[in-house]
Amino acid sequence: MSKMEVKTSLLDNMIGVGDMVLLEPLTEESFIENLRKRFDHNEIYTYIGSVVISINPYRSLPIYTPDKVEEYRNRNFYELSPHIYALADEAYRSLRDQDKDQCILITGESGAGKTEASKLVMSYVAAVCGKGAEVNQVKEQLLQSNPVLEAFGNAKTVRNDNSSRFGKYMDVEFDFKGDPLGGVISNYLLEKSRVVKQPRGERNFHIFYQLLSGASEDMLKKLKLERDFSKYNYLSLDSATVTGVDDAASFRTVRNAMQIVGFMDDETQSVLELVGAVLKLGNIEFKPESRVNDIDESRVKDKNELKEICELLGIEQSVLERAFSFRTVEAKQEKVSTTLNVAQAYYARDALAKNLYSRLFTWLVNRINESIKAQTKKRKKVMGVLDIYGFEIFEENSFEQFIINYCNEKLQQIFIELTLREEQEEYIREGIEWTHIEYFNNSVICDLIENNTNGIMAMLDEECLRPGTVTDSTFLEKLNQICADHQHFESRMSKSSKFLNDHSLPHNCFRIQHYAGKVLYLVEGFMDKNNDLLYRDLSQAMWKANHSLIKSLFPDGNPAKINLKRPPTAGSQFKTSVATLMKNLQTKNPNYIRCIKPNDQKASHIFTDSLVCHQVRYLGLMENVRVRRAGYAFRQPYEACLERYKMLCKQTWPHWRGQARDGVEVLLKDLQIPAEEYSYGRSKIFIRNPRTLFSLEEQRKR
Ligand code: ATP
Ligand code: MG
Repeated sequence: MSKMEVKTSLLDNMIGVGDMVLLEPLTEESFIENLRKRFDHNEIYTYIGSVVISINPYRSLPIYTPDKVEEYRNRNFYELSPHIYALADEAYRSLRDQDKDQCILITGESGAGKTEASKLVMSYVAAVCGKGAEVNQVKEQLLQSNPVLEAFGNAKTVRNDNSSRFGKYMDVEFDFKGDPLGGVISNYLLEKSRVVKQPRGERNFHIFYQLLSGASEDMLKKLKLERDFSKYNYLSLDSATVTGVDDAASFRTVRNAMQIVGFMDDETQSVLELVGAVLKLGNIEFKPESRVNDIDESRVKDKNELKEICELLGIEQSVLERAFSFRTVEAKQEKVSTTLNVAQAYYARDALAKNLYSRLFTWLVNRINESIKAQTKKRKKVMGVLDIYGFEIFEENSFEQFIINYCNEKLQQIFIELTLREEQEEYIREGIEWTHIEYFNNSVICDLIENNTNGIMAMLDEECLRPGTVTDSTFLEKLNQICADHQHFESRMSKSSKFLNDHSLPHNCFRIQHYAGKVLYLVEGFMDKNNDLLYRDLSQAMWKANHSLIKSLFPDGNPAKINLKRPPTAGSQFKTSVATLMKNLQTKNPNYIRCIKPNDQKASHIFTDSLVCHQVRYLGLMENVRVRRAGYAFRQPYEACLERYKMLCKQTWPHWRGQARDGVEVLLKDLQIPAEEYSYGRSKIFIRNPRTLFSLEEQRKR
């Protein structure tokens, strides 16, 4: 076999083309055809250079066995057929051997396989890093944090039976040898509206069903719960059980996981008491009480449920009852009590349930972090894994989609910045000839949303804080005034609007042309969700509870610590945490997994071209290949290249006395690598084809 004919499974004996960079001709059709061909043969992974495309097979494939782990361990990225393990291995080794912090960015729409991908990466890294009892305990705790967070943060939706309803970023920390030390999890915006209401065909968070199905009779009695889902208003009935899901078995898994992560029995008990209390809150009903002066004042209808909740949480019944009937407003150091009508009482009840649950979720994340945090102050190497909600376009989009899509714009920006721009800039820096590639820079959309003076979020905040009558409609009016001319904004009033003649579109909405497509947002609920206010009477009632967990969740209910400054709005909190995340990601070496959902039926073996095409477009994959192809698949500083391969050539081994660049030149010539395969940059050698690199690696091993 000649030097250049070294077999690589990436190039030969392969179904379709394993790396889109090598696809000829490159068109959108051929790109999708290649994905389909591979998918039909169970090849769900395909590369674009170092980016991994993953297509959800919707069935378990025998490609994640310990043998597979061994196969991919310490091998070159391009050596074997494309696999998520290859990416995980590359990231881990680069972290361990080159001391480069890594992040794994997993994107794709709901049901595309992000969470599964993140678990595969984690389990691969756990399998190949470190040994020994102590290290194993750390690994176990890191892995077991997953089932806990999934139970409380995932739910069955129309798109995915196990849909993550929160964003998650986890930094796994390693020592200099590459042994895991611990981790830190950050969570982003839990979809708490689900606690009180679920869309048709969807469920509440898994834990509610798991608790009712899996708890012993004794435990149910202690929690004053009944096993029957239909007894609870907050549990939708049309999809209470999910095919293939055993809630009772999951409950055992979750409790076991909590134990491994380090929850004490009484902590778990407290958590479940809160879960039970939230369920029971949904059953409190209100009735109007006629009064002489004709004010519709609300009263709790049946006090039994209220009584049980208060017993469960150690709250004095009269305190909670009062908090459901009155609202205290403090103005100019004066307290004014106003009565709540029935609608307001229901609103207060639901606000309390949502708040309780989301605070509990944040507490769980913090509690897990306490257990898994590294027990050393020494410098650590870090691998971050980001599994965050993908871009969402529904028929009706609300504040949640607005926030989620904003986050995706930011991630796309980082992707553009790090992959496309960096690539081009490096070529310019290195003096390598480069044909400019046009790409869409979405910073203009990010600016429309996040600009501090006239961005949509800033205006929403301004409206939320403005005294006087403010409503979702006044917010929309303001948007219409200020964003009307923005090229990515449309509403009935904006000049560029196609709405004017489009009477099928409602008045109360605006449309953003996101990088991934146009999304129509209904303004209804924007103000309320952004405000995210809980009547202070309720937080005070919770703070008074004789239940240490619940008390700790409501520090704002402590009358001694009343802070008249209102807390930041939900939108601005999210913006701040996304900014922190972006900063963090920017310091790391990124690895991308782009997940694609092959069909809308959650079915195996079905590949719907139009659906895949849409995702390929908005993930910007064609652009990604074009940039990769225009350039060189691999580059390395001359010194590093010479050091690694000098053994292959008599003139450079064992020492090369001249400039490293000249040494590399001698080396490549001696190895008879065709000149069109590489270019000399200012400080690095650029190699066009992964095949060349692989042949060098092969020869080193001989
Ligand atoms: P969401 O945004 O709703 O959280 P997601 O992208 O995280 O969606 P997953 O929960 O990872 O989607 O995947 C949905 C389902 O698809 C999984 O529960 C699993 O049944 C199946 N699935 C995903 N990836 C794989 C895989 N690699 N092998 C087998 N099945 C998979
Ligand atoms: Mg998920």
